[in-house]
Amino acid sequence: MKGKLLVIGFGPGSFEHITKRAREAIQESDVIIGYNTYVDLIRDLLTNQEIVRTGMTEEVSRAQEAVKQAETGKKVAVISSGDAGVYGMAGLIYEVLIEKGWNETEGVEVEIIPGISAINSCASLLGAPIMHDACTISLSDHLTPWELIEKRIDAAGSSDFVIALYNPRSGRRTRQIIEAQNILLKYRSPDTPVGLVKSAYREREFVQITTLEKMLEFDIGMLTTVIIGNSTTFLYDGKIITPRGYQRKYTLDRDEQQLKLHERLKKENEPWSLTEKENESSLIQSSLENHRTTPLTIATEALRTLQQKQGIETTPIKNKEDAIVENAVFKQESILELAVSPGIANKKMTAQQMKLIADIAGDKGDIEYTPHHQLILRVPTSNPNEVTQQLQNEGLLLAPIGDVAQVKACDFCDEEKDESIPYVKEIHKRIDGIKTPKELKIGFNGCAMTCYGAVKEDIGIVFRKGKFDLFLGAKTVGRTAHAAQPVAEGIEKEKIVDLVERIVKGYANDGFPNERFHKYFKRVKEIEGFTYRDVPVLVTEQVICGD
Ligand code: SAH
Repeated sequence: MKGKLLVIGFGPGSFEHITKRAREAIQESDVIIGYNTYVDLIRDLLTNQEIVRTGMTEEVSRAQEAVKQAETGKKVAVISSGDAGVYGMAGLIYEVLIEKGWNETEGVEVEIIPGISAINSCASLLGAPIMHDACTISLSDHLTPWELIEKRIDAAGSSDFVIALYNPRSGRRTRQIIEAQNILLKYRSPDTPVGLVKSAYREREFVQITTLEKMLEFDIGMLTTVIIGNSTTFLYDGKIITPRGYQRKYTLDRDEQQLKLHERLKKENEPWSLTEKENESSLIQSSLENHRTTPLTIATEALRTLQQKQGIETTPIKNKEDAIVENAVFKQESILELAVSPGIANKKMTAQQMKLIADIAGDKGDIEYTPHHQLILRVPTSNPNEVTQQLQNEGLLLAPIGDVAQVKACDFCDEEKDESIPYVKEIHKRIDGIKTPKELKIGFNGCAMTCYGAVKEDIGIVFRKGKFDLFLGAKTVGRTAHAAQPVAEGIEKEKIVDLVERIVKGYANDGFPNERFHKYFKRVKEIEGFTYRDVPVLVTEQVICGD
């Protein structure tokens, strides 16, 4: 009878994490060959199999013994922890067989049974540190020259892979992990999250979350796997999380723009995401975007809390971007997105300004002409400050876009009717760019003509006979669009700025996420003493003849 080699990965070590096929294979075998500790780990599954125990360093002789026994017609189980194909016995078995001129049709049967490798089992105990492109690197120079291992660490570091280090340290090999840390610090911030998992799913399981800078302060041994995050990995509630993709757009008020719940997982915002339809149900799962903080602040905060809890002195954490830019190797390029206009009242761009905008946009950026008296400029850059500085030096007014308050003034008849301009400038100074539940436009017109349509904005302010009229709650879009309600006439000049500021800040604080200003007005019924009135219901005309 033809013998069989069953090359089995039994997973991290716990019974529940051994696959069904692996259990069956162990039970159907006549002989078990494996390292002592591994045989002990699967002891409960054994019936009357013959056991060939070997020490750790005798892998080749173990493989030879297994092949020899199979050739006598036995079913031989060769066991590896994790997956047998990951620094396990699978490759060695094939090498020994090939040496003997084995082939599949004539030789002994071979079945490789997959198992959960340490990169997966350890990651599961840390949160979701892998998520994106990752690699495994064994620090054991027992079978691989150290120069090659160094090269691989360097390559993985520079190309921003999440890294799982196997065999990180033994009693004899202690330098490698120090060298690895040094190499990675060339490319990654010292506060990059790192997870140390010892004996995952085994009796002496130990999980430690730390940073690239501090990882050597903890116990790392032969049973540890070290998982090192990439440049986007962050800590949240004691878990290491690597986002599914790289950071998306950012605008002026934030370094990295956190997308809102409804914006997540849409192709235009997160090009790496699945199709929109598939994601509708999974939107609920993404709870992170309820927080208005960036991954970096979450990570920094979590780390500090953790360090404080552990009584470790908190060091000032170096800015992630700085660390990266300094080394000039891995520069994370995001899309800077901002609104550009010649000024609040000034509506004329100079040729020089147009030229600068065009130069900055170049081939890769884009310039969008919008209905809001501004151009939107989107440009990929790893140095947003330089871009904004250039634009400002040319006299352009910059503003964040998205869910922020924005002032839309008229041109004050070429700035000739300039009496109310100081007021709009003051309003702009106080509230422009404030984060709001939904985009908020404040129209400001310098005379009763309102040719720039202030009354069609969320908040409309019209200067008339030395005083201000106020309009609230236009529905600016959709089939049921309507103008704002006139709520007050003749507001004194000294009062208008404070009043508008209170209205905007009230909405910013009390509006529900994504609630437009007119809906907020309807819900709260009264804003600063102005009462909401229902918009008259439309009468639908009967169409007599077909259209
Ligand atoms: N074939 C195994 C790897 C064997 S190399 C697998 O696929 O997981 C041995 C290394 O694997 C160890 O030094 C450690 O880094 C890692 N490892 C294996 N089992 C582990 C466990 N239960 N917990 C943590 N690390 C483990």
